[in-house]
Amino acid sequence: MASNYPFDPEQPTKNNEHISRLAAVGQIAAGIAHEVKNPLTTVKGFIQLLQENNPKDPKAYLDLAHTELDNALATLESLLQVSKPDLDDEPYQTVNLCVELESTLNLFQDQYYQVEIQKNFRNTDRMIVGRKNQLKKAFFNLIKNAFEAISDAGIISIEHYTDEHSIHVIIRDTGVGISEDKLPLIGTPFFTTKASGTGMGLSQVFSVIYQHGGSILVNSTENEGTTFELILPIESTKTIGSVNLLNLDYENGQNLQLFFTQNRNHFEQRLLEEAVQVKHKIDEIRETGNIDLMNNAYKLVNYIIEDREHEMIGFAKQEGVAWARHDLTLAFKLEWLQAIRRVLWDFLYNFERLSGANVKLEDFFGLEKRMNVLLDQFLNYFFISYSSFKDDLLKSQRVLIDDLSVPIIPISPSICILPLIGSIDAKRSQTIYEKVLSQIDPLTIETLIIDLSGIAHMQIGAIDQFLRMLDGIRLMGCKPILTGMRSDIVKLMLDQQVSLADKAETKRNLQQAIEAYLHTTNEINESVT
Ligand code: ADP
Ligand code: MG
Repeated sequence: MASNYPFDPEQPTKNNEHISRLAAVGQIAAGIAHEVKNPLTTVKGFIQLLQENNPKDPKAYLDLAHTELDNALATLESLLQVSKPDLDDEPYQTVNLCVELESTLNLFQDQYYQVEIQKNFRNTDRMIVGRKNQLKKAFFNLIKNAFEAISDAGIISIEHYTDEHSIHVIIRDTGVGISEDKLPLIGTPFFTTKASGTGMGLSQVFSVIYQHGGSILVNSTENEGTTFELILPIESTKTIGSVNLLNLDYENGQNLQLFFTQNRNHFEQRLLEEAVQVKHKIDEIRETGNIDLMNNAYKLVNYIIEDREHEMIGFAKQEGVAWARHDLTLAFKLEWLQAIRRVLWDFLYNFERLSGANVKLEDFFGLEKRMNVLLDQFLNYFFISYSSFKDDLLKSQRVLIDDLSVPIIPISPSICILPLIGSIDAKRSQTIYEKVLSQIDPLTIETLIIDLSGIAHMQIGAIDQFLRMLDGIRLMGCKPILTGMRSDIVKLMLDQQVSLADKAETKRNLQQAIEAYLHTTNEINESVT
C-alpha cells in the first residue's frame, strides 16, 4: 500500500498529527540520549580509571576522552543547526536549481554503475532567490538517501519543472521504500533505520525547504520506491533578464524625457521594489551623508536619457567622494545602480510599447548600447573617485600612524627617549631613521635613549637601516643609548655578525639609562647654576 505524507507547514495532516508530534519528541529525546550519553559515559569511565589506578600512559586515556567529547559536541552542534536554522547566516542569492542538481549528482558518479540516473529538467533557466549551499546540501541528502535505498540495481529519476506558482523538484528512487508507520517519523532529528545512519539528513532538508517558504510531499511504497517532491513558491523567485509590463501614463507624441518626468512616482516605486536591500537604508543614508538617493537616481537617469555625458561624469565623481567620505557601503551603491538599470529598461520597453513608435530594431539596440555605456561610465568614474578619495585618506592616516609610531619624548632639555614597540620591518625602520634624524636639531637632542624592550619582532632587513640610523645620530653630534635589548634581538644581531659595541652605548633597561644620564645632566645643570 502506498503511504502519502504531505509535509506542508500550512496544512498538517489532521488525523495522525498528534501521534507523530509525540513520537517526534520521543525520537529526539532517544536520539540525544543515545548520541550524547554514550560518549559522556565513556569519558566518565576514563576519568574514573585515571583517578583509581594511576595508569602508565595517562595521555592515551585523555586523548580518547577528548575524541569522545568532540563527538558529543558535534552531535549537539548538528542538532542545533537543524533546530535553529537562523544561526546559519548564508546570504540569499539567485540560484539555478538545475545547475545545483547537476553538480550535486556529479558527486555520486562512482555509484552510477549499478544505478541508472534519469534526468528530466524543464524550465532550466528559472532562477530562485535562496541559500545556495543549503539547498545544495538538501539535494545531496535526498540523493544520498536514494542511493542508499537501492541495494542492488535500480533507477533514480530527478525532475525539475515550473508551473504558474512554483518550482517543483522531484527525486524518485526504486529502492526499499518506507513503511507506513515510519513515514511520519522521517525528518525527525536522529530518526534513522540505518546501522550507521545519523538521522540528520532529512531534518536538514525539511528545515531548509520550510525556510524558503516551500513544502515537501513524500510518497513511498515498501519494496517499490520513494518519491520526494520539493515545491518552492515562485513569489520568492525572479526571472532574470525579462522586462516588466508597467501601468504608466503616456500622452500622445510625448518624448522619452517627458514620459519619464510624468511617471516619476512610478519610477521611484519600481526602484524601491527592485533594490530590496537599499530600500531599508535610504533614510539612514540621508541622515549620515545628507545624500538623497531618490533624487540622485532621477538626476542620473535624466543625464542618461538626455545624453549629457559630461555632466554625468562630473556627477559620478562628486557622488564617489560623498560616498567615500561618509563610509557608505559599496555593495549598496552597486545594487542601487543595477536596480536603476533594470527600471530604466522597463521604462524604455513601456515607452516603446505605449507610443507605438515603430522604432527600428537597430535603432533600439543603438539606444540600448548608448544607455548601458553611459551607466557603465558612471560606475567607472564613481569607483575611481571613491577609491582615490579612500587612498588619499589611507595615505594621510599612514603618515599620522608613522608619526605616532616614532614618539620622541623629551625628558630634559637635552635628553629624549624613543620607546619603540611592535614589529619593525624595513619600511618602518626607514620611517624611524628619517624621523629621528630630522628631530635631532629642532629638539636639541644630545642624548637619545632608544628603548627596544617593546619590540615584538625585528626583521633581518630592518637591521642595516637601524645601524645606519645609529651612525647618523652620532654624526649629528648626538649620543645614542640602547636599552631593553632582549636576548632574541641580541642573538639576531650576533647572527648577522653585527657589532653594536662601537655604534652605541647600551644599558640594561630604561630606568638604568635615565638614572645614569639624567643624574649626570642634573649635576651639570647644578654646577652651572
Ligand atoms: P539517515 O540517512 O542518516 O538515516 P535521514 O534523515 O537522511 O538519515 O533519513 C532518515 C530515515 O528515513 C532513513 O534512515 C530511512 O529509513 C528513511 N529514508 C529516507 N530517505 C529514504 C529513501 N529514499 N528510501 C527509503 N527510506 C528513506
Ligand atoms: Mg540520509
